[in-house]
This record gives sequence, structure tokens and C-alpha cells, in this order.
Amino acid sequence: MKRVKRRDTAAEVALRSALHRIGLRFRIDQKPEADLPYRADITLPRYRVAVFVDGCFWHGCDEHGTASKSNAKWWRQKIARNRARDAKATQTLRRAGWVVVRFWEHEEPQKCARKVRALIRAAS
Ligand SMILES: [Zn+2]
Repeated sequence: MKRVKRRDTAAEVALRSALHRIGLRFRIDQKPEADLPYRADITLPRYRVAVFVDGCFWHGCDEHGTASKSNAKWWRQKIARNRARDAKATQTLRRAGWVVVRFWEHEEPQKCARKVRALIRAAS
């Protein structure tokens, strides 16, 4: 399946630097599980934590996800499919033993990084 998002969005880069600054090391754009068709934006294999940074537009955030007026129905369906896929990925990876966390691209990177660190502490 074609990926709907491009790599290295500003939000991902900001979160990566924030994680780096608090001393966490991670992998970028990898499949947490080789057998599953999902790539996480950030993976911390040692802690089995997978992080997704969802684009507000493509994944339909409540604050910024308003679809364009032309082709509104088409966009709604497209974004609904993306969201269904997100939910499936989260669920499937959790079932495989991963801690999955999703952030919106509008969320503050430092805050997200602290949340990841808290999850790691809870998981280890
Ligand atoms: Zn947003």
C-alpha cells in the first residue's frame, strides 16, 4: 500500500531532536515487526515502543483536519480510510507486544518526548 505521508516532516524532525536531547536513541521509519506491514516513524526496539506522528491533514485531526470543500466527500472517505488503517496498525502492534503512541503533528515536541520517556520508564 502506498504511504500517504512523506518522510521527515517538520514535526517528526522536531520530535526526533527532542528525544535525542533527553538521551534516547531510536530508529527512523522502520517496521517494528518485520512480518507486519506497518512502519513506525520512530521505533525504540529495546523498549518495544513505536511512535507515530500523524499529519493533521491526512489523518484528520479535529483542530486542523478540515477537508477542502471541493471533493469533500472524497476527502472524508480518504481520511476515514487512513484513520481506520492507523487504528488497525495501533491495535495489531499492541497485540504483538509493542507500546504504541501516536502524536499529532501539531503537538509540542518536548511534551511528546517527555511522554515517550514516561512510557519507557513504565515499560521497563
Ligand atoms: Zn492538528
